[in-house]
Amino acid sequence: MKVDRFDLPPDEHPDRWYNILPDLPEPLPRHKDPPEGPSRLEFIERVCLKECLRQEFSEQRWIPIPDELLELYIHAGRPRPLYRALRLEKKLGLKHVRIYYKREDLSPTGSHKVNTALAQCYYAAEEGREGVVTETGAGQWGTALSYAARLMGLKCVVFWVKSVYDWKVDRRTLMRLYGAEVHASPSDVTEFGRKIRSENPEHPGSLGIAISEGLEYADKHEEFVYCLGSVLNHVLMHQTVIGLETMRQFELTDDEPDLMIGCLGGGSNFGGFILPFAGEVLKGKRECEFLAAQSWAAPNLIKGEYRYDFADVAGYTPLLKMYTLGHKVEMPPIRADGLRYHGAAPIMSYLRHKGLLKAVAYAIDEREVFEAARLFVETEGWLPAPESNYAIRAAIDKALEFERKGEEKVIAINISGHGFLDLFAYREKLGL
Ligand SMILES: *Cc1c(COP(=O)(O)O)cnc(C)c1O
Repeated sequence: MKVDRFDLPPDEHPDRWYNILPDLPEPLPRHKDPPEGPSRLEFIERVCLKECLRQEFSEQRWIPIPDELLELYIHAGRPRPLYRALRLEKKLGLKHVRIYYKREDLSPTGSHKVNTALAQCYYAAEEGREGVVTETGAGQWGTALSYAARLMGLKCVVFWVKSVYDWKVDRRTLMRLYGAEVHASPSDVTEFGRKIRSENPEHPGSLGIAISEGLEYADKHEEFVYCLGSVLNHVLMHQTVIGLETMRQFELTDDEPDLMIGCLGGGSNFGGFILPFAGEVLKGKRECEFLAAQSWAAPNLIKGEYRYDFADVAGYTPLLKMYTLGHKVEMPPIRADGLRYHGAAPIMSYLRHKGLLKAVAYAIDEREVFEAARLFVETEGWLPAPESNYAIRAAIDKALEFERKGEEKVIAINISGHGFLDLFAYREKLGL
């Protein structure tokens, strides 16, 4: 019997997160204030979680996961399985290459974002806040935070870019089912939103406007705290449960990954997947390569410059040192909306800068990534999120390349989410 699934029992869930900062060859460049205007660092201290800001530049290598949070991780289905893609390998005719995939798609709301949403809501409750507030573009982050807030007994307010809010009806329903207050942004709830609406009642909104509304809301409601779903160091650290589990699961196979692949928008799912491995590579304890799969709509690691830039369009956040396309850049719409972000997380940018991380990008029409997804669905049967399809495409391309050269290789990919709320994208891209 060939078993293609590798599980860890709940009591073997990692009980601490891995913080790569102390293992980097030099200190990660600090976030800083721009030369002009009010202090963003002070503003962030006021509206964000104290514990998360402490974690942001912590020099502690291992940070314990609080018991109650660990219970929630297990309740939410962690540890998640690692699969060997035997059927896909067979279809591709692979003799030398083996492919594994980690199942973050088995998350209650459909993405890995639940891993940090639960942590942030746990700390919000610990810090005595009544609620969390955020913005969302594609909707995955808003859904994950709504879910986590509900489980922790907190209120949740989401400002959602109006042009997306208007048509992603099912995701909106799910957020409301979790009890979140969801506003189309620009909204009537904030001064900033009202100002924009008075100028143009039909304004479609933008991520920048939604962030501004969320931050204003948190600023005016002391009992609310503002939460961020990607890019920051502490978010990537919360996500390392993915990689720590994967490392343990590889011990159950006869393999070790030679190449790890994930999709990268801001960098949280891929960071969570690879950082425990990258730490060992930095210490000379392991050999492994890392490949980020991106869209030409937002190829921050490929076309971006490594410099300080704002994390948001409106310029409310501190400056982060990262590969950036410029915080005001216009990015063409794609169905893998979660990959449309102007900058890559400072940690991922640093690894890129040091040559540890490679990147590849796929065409804006997304035809080739959805074709890869079709192959995956036909063989493995699981429906990936549009973003995850980029990792699948890259894995198939690399596998075929190794196979042609007769190289023995093990590839591991992270499936960051499921596609059940994105079937319209499959319909459109594959003409179904
Ligand atoms: C948000 C999201 C992404 C992109 O964000 P990262 O921070 O780069 O991980 C990828 N996949 C899914 C399913 C997402 O929801």
